[in-house]
Amino acid sequence: MSIARTLIRADVRALSAYHVPDASGLVKLDAMENPYLLPPELQRQLGERLGAAALNRYPVPSYAKLKAALRERMGIPAGFDVVLGNGSDELISILSVACAKPGAKVLAPVPGFVMYAMSAQFAGLEFIGVPLAADLSLDLDAMLAAVREHRPAITYLAYPNNPTGNLFDLDAMLAIIREVGDTGLVVVDEAYQPFAGASFMPRLPQHPNVAVMRTVSKLGLAGIRLGYLSASRDLLAEFDKVRPPYNVNVLTETTAEFVLEHAAVLDAQAEAICAQRAALLAALAALPGVQVYPSAANFVLLRIVRPGLTGAQVFDRLLQRKVLVKNVGKMHALLENCLRVTVSTPEENAAFLAALQPSLES
Ligand SMILES: *Cc1c(COP(=O)(O)O)cnc(C)c1O
Repeated sequence: MSIARTLIRADVRALSAYHVPDASGLVKLDAMENPYLLPPELQRQLGERLGAAALNRYPVPSYAKLKAALRERMGIPAGFDVVLGNGSDELISILSVACAKPGAKVLAPVPGFVMYAMSAQFAGLEFIGVPLAADLSLDLDAMLAAVREHRPAITYLAYPNNPTGNLFDLDAMLAIIREVGDTGLVVVDEAYQPFAGASFMPRLPQHPNVAVMRTVSKLGLAGIRLGYLSASRDLLAEFDKVRPPYNVNVLTETTAEFVLEHAAVLDAQAEAICAQRAALLAALAALPGVQVYPSAANFVLLRIVRPGLTGAQVFDRLLQRKVLVKNVGKMHALLENCLRVTVSTPEENAAFLAALQPSLES
C-alpha cells in the first residue's frame, strides 16, 4: 500500500486538483484578470521600492501602514479595520477554520464561487448549496428556508456573483441577513467591486453579523495575492488568531502600498474595462445563437442557444482559434451550454468576437 493511500483523507484523495489550463500562445480570457500592467514609469518606481524592501526581515505582523491605506482608499467605514489574507482564498479558509465547530455548516447560492465549498470541506464543515432561480437571481424563499433548516455558521453572498456576473437584489440580501440574525455570519464577497458600481461596505456598521470581503486580484494585482476582510472588531480579533502571522509577504505588502498611492491608475483601468464590457455585451446581444446575461463584473456569462450546438463545442472551436474562455456548462444544471469570458482590451475582445462568430455555425 502506498503511503498516500494510508495517510491521506479519503475525501481529499477523491478530489481532483484545482485545474489551471496552460494558456501559452492563447488570448487568455478565462480567469478574470485585468489585461493592463502598470505604466512603465510606475513599474520603474515600484522596482526601486521593491529593491529597497527589507527582504531579510519577517513582515511586521500588524501590517499597520497597508491596513491604513486600505481603510482610507477602499471606503472602509469609520471605526472598522481589516484582516489581510494571501488572496481572499486564504480569508475563506481562515473563516472556515475559525467557525468549524462540530456540525457547523456553510451555505451559499449555487452556482457560485467554488472555494466556498472546497474550503468548507477541508475544514470539516458541511456545505449546503441553494440553487439560484432560473433567471440566476437569488431564490429568496429557498434561501430563507435553507437558513431556517440548517442555521449555517457562514452564508456567502458574492456581490456580484461568480460565474453569473449579476448583482443580487439588495432587499433579498437584507432579508437573508435578517433571517441569519445572531446565529451566523453572512460574508458579502465583493471580489468584483471595482466593476460593480455597488457595495455593501457602507452598510457594514448596521449589521454586526456581516463581513465584507474583497481582493485586489480582479483590480489588476492578481499576481501579488492580497485579500482583505472587514467586520466588527471582536470578529476580526478572532479571525486574526487563525491567520498565519506572516501570511502577506513583504513584496506583496510593498507593492500594495505603492499601488494604493497611485490608485487612480487602477481606477482608470477599471473604468476602461467597464466601457469595454458595455461594448462587448452589445456585440454579443446582436449575435444570433447567443444569449448574454447582464454583468456587474469584469466578465460576461453567455449561453449558446443554437439547436444542435453545445457550449463545449463552441469552447473547443474558440480554443482552435487560440482563444481561451471558461466552459462553465458542467458546473451546474442552470449553466448548461454557458461560457464565461473575461472582459479585456479592445483588441482582445475583438479577437474573441472574431473567433466566436465562425464558431457558432451548426
Ligand atoms: C476571484 C474570486 C475570489 C478570489 O480572489 P483571490 O483574492 O484571487 O483569492 C474570491 N471570490 C470570488 C467570488 C471570486 O470570483
